Amino acid sequence: YVEELQKLIDVEVKTSDGVEINIFSNVEINDEIEVSNNYNSKGIGLYRTEFIYLENGNVSEDDQFEILKDAVMKNGDKPIVIRTFDLGGEKLSSLLPHPEEQNPVMGLRAIRYSLRFQDFFISQIKAILRAAVYGDVRIMFPMISGVEEIRLAKSVVKDAIKELEAEGKEFRKDVPIGVMVELPALALITHLVNKEVDFFSVGTNDLIQYTVGIDRNNEYVAYLYRPTHPAVLHLLKKILKDANKGGIEATVCGEMAGDPKYIPVLLGLGYRNLSMSPASILKAKMIIRRVNISDCEKLVRSLKRCKLARIAEEKLQKFIEKHA
Ligand code: PEP
Ligand code: MG
Repeated sequence: YVEELQKLIDVEVKTSDGVEINIFSNVEINDEIEVSNNYNSKGIGLYRTEFIYLENGNVSEDDQFEILKDAVMKNGDKPIVIRTFDLGGEKLSSLLPHPEEQNPVMGLRAIRYSLRFQDFFISQIKAILRAAVYGDVRIMFPMISGVEEIRLAKSVVKDAIKELEAEGKEFRKDVPIGVMVELPALALITHLVNKEVDFFSVGTNDLIQYTVGIDRNNEYVAYLYRPTHPAVLHLLKKILKDANKGGIEATVCGEMAGDPKYIPVLLGLGYRNLSMSPASILKAKMIIRRVNISDCEKLVRSLKRCKLARIAEEKLQKFIEKHA
């Protein structure tokens, strides 16, 4: 089996009926970019910058620039989507300032944190714009709930540009800006957002968590955490439809995108860009090469009609057994 997987490293990522699927990598540390390259991914779909702060607290702009430049150079001329700070809740580094919160998962986290501590945010944006000189960098904002936050975050990018100009530092201005669609509120208004940004990236981990109201790490309610919940399928469909209408790309970067069981569902919904941990890439390629799009579309149609989780699960299981 391992040998069979290794053989997939160099093959094209196409469904059995010839539809090309783009696989990108999710990375947390720069060393993973080499693995991503070894598996021939199309680039980095999600670079989780929070790991820089978890270890070091509030690192200086220059230190961030060095780390990001190294990541960008390792990635060569392929795209790299750098997600701004996405910590908060229980994951906040003790090295950063933050208030006591009753309900931190719904509190001052991710973009909300960045917009509150603007000096902190601007130094990150400046580091990203400087690293962008060395490759195909894109900026992505996490946990966006509406258009105000997008405009505020973009205004910080403008401020960062002004500061860099005044300081005479080398940087790139025309960096594409996208958002994570991972709150149901944003997913429901993607038709209002598709002209505000350059791309969408769907964070199914949080999107599912907030749609069904299930803490993604709580074992007692884990059985209710379902990627095939019809509400989730409905949102995923809408996000892609609005991305297409706005002429922008949508990528899925949650765990769902790297799970062979759910990849046919995403393909059936119409997604063609998947970003996953490098360790998932070869298994993902295997399933992609075994399915065809019309079967995946049929699967999605039948899942959408399922009222009961158990029945949906059985259908999905049958599909996987038939194709895997
Ligand atoms: C997600 O929410 O799906 C996602 C990719 O972001 P993270 O897992 O880092 O919250
Ligand atoms: Mg998330």
